[in-house]
Amino acid sequence: MMSANFWASGTQCVAKCDHTKPKAPEELCFRKGDILTIVEPCETKGQYKAKHNTTGAEGLLFTAAVREREAIRVDPKLSLMPWFHGKISGPDAVQQLQPPENGLFLIRESIRHPGDYVLCVSFDNEVIHYRVIYKDCQLTIDEATCFYNLIELIEYYMKTQGAICTRLVKPKPKQGTKSAEDELAKAGWLLNMQHLSLGDKIGEGEFGAVLQGEYIGQKVAVKNIRCDVTAQAFLAETAAMTKVQHKNLVRLLGVILHNGLYIVMEFMSKGSLVNFLRTRGRSVIHTGQLLQFSLNVSDGMDYLESKKLVHRDLAARNILISKDNVAKISDFGLAKVDLKCKDLTRIPIKWTAPEALKHNKFSTKSDVWSFGVLLWEIFSYGRAPYPKLSLKEVCEKIEKGYRMEAPEHCPPSICILMNSCWEMDPGKRPSFKKLREKLEKELKAQQEG
Ligand code: ADP
Ligand code: MG
Repeated sequence: MMSANFWASGTQCVAKCDHTKPKAPEELCFRKGDILTIVEPCETKGQYKAKHNTTGAEGLLFTAAVREREAIRVDPKLSLMPWFHGKISGPDAVQQLQPPENGLFLIRESIRHPGDYVLCVSFDNEVIHYRVIYKDCQLTIDEATCFYNLIELIEYYMKTQGAICTRLVKPKPKQGTKSAEDELAKAGWLLNMQHLSLGDKIGEGEFGAVLQGEYIGQKVAVKNIRCDVTAQAFLAETAAMTKVQHKNLVRLLGVILHNGLYIVMEFMSKGSLVNFLRTRGRSVIHTGQLLQFSLNVSDGMDYLESKKLVHRDLAARNILISKDNVAKISDFGLAKVDLKCKDLTRIPIKWTAPEALKHNKFSTKSDVWSFGVLLWEIFSYGRAPYPKLSLKEVCEKIEKGYRMEAPEHCPPSICILMNSCWEMDPGKRPSFKKLREKLEKELKAQQEG
């Protein structure tokens, strides 16, 4: 239990066993699999004050009864749709559903009707095949109940028999796939829809709305991804987020598998950094605050660098501000999936390093380039970089050695710092550790001066 002594407050744990009959009134009650948050260590070794994530109750626990919540590995076999078998024939599907078991099911792609699906269900020693058709961009079996995607269809028929022979009971996983739901639950990242209440829309993401919500008394932000293919791609972002925990990274609380995927994050009440700066401006925000934000971001990036994670979309729009004015990085892990397909319209050209644009060489050093642009955004109070230049012009001019001028009233040392991030040779750019140290010094000098 050595490492247990170092559990920081905020560490998420999973209960290894039931603890429903406490020996002392101050002990916390929980059941196997419950998620608990460490509040603080106690005097007694191996004992912590903790909070139950579901009931909100606080009490003492012994570390022997819990384990730290694990990171999810980015495993391509992790599937939100393990019951999806792709293009297999009817007889193959029947094979897959042996031995017979009422309610055992899978989905296959129809060979005869390309684009349609078939739901195959084992019932009374037979396999029944239901054609799933597209109708007005929705999926349906009975032409009455329609679904946005296969995940929703399966979810429905696991609850309701509807027009088919039996309620779906047990998915038959495709060989080689792992159920994302099982893995997320095992590792302790699966939250319960019943505890989530959804509120107003607070933003618009690329893949759908971001809503404000509450999860057992805690304010949260929720991204719902309904498209099954996108939801699957988002598992990678989610998996990346389970690996990291830092005060300057937006924290993932967990996910819910319902209507696709709900990603539940800590709520950042002051919105994105770029809007924060634009709506307040120079008269309200002084240089010290700008330096503090810059330091926050470099701190979070230094941590990501140490974990060998590359962000790829570092920009002021992806930095969020908490109620206490702490800047935190969001949207990490996601960009990787998209940028690989070289869809140029989706690459943030003005933020991306030349070697990443030209040769797809993304690295911590290309993140450093983006950080330089982010510094420029911060000290210009949220202006769009390279004003008046087209994307094409930016690329051409950068190659020839052109760099942005420092924003008005920008401290000269910060100007030097951003230019060092824009070295053509990635090896000559500073590390985030160096950047953090420099910004720390700068902030100190500013506070003293
Ligand atoms: P995407 O990257 O898919 O476009 P974002 O994650 O950037 O979407 O979210 C879009 C907007 O939603 C943000 O600019 C911000 O205003 C809001 N938002 C996102 N996450 C949070 C959060 N955790 N807390 C508060 N607002 C958020
Ligand atoms: Mg974003």
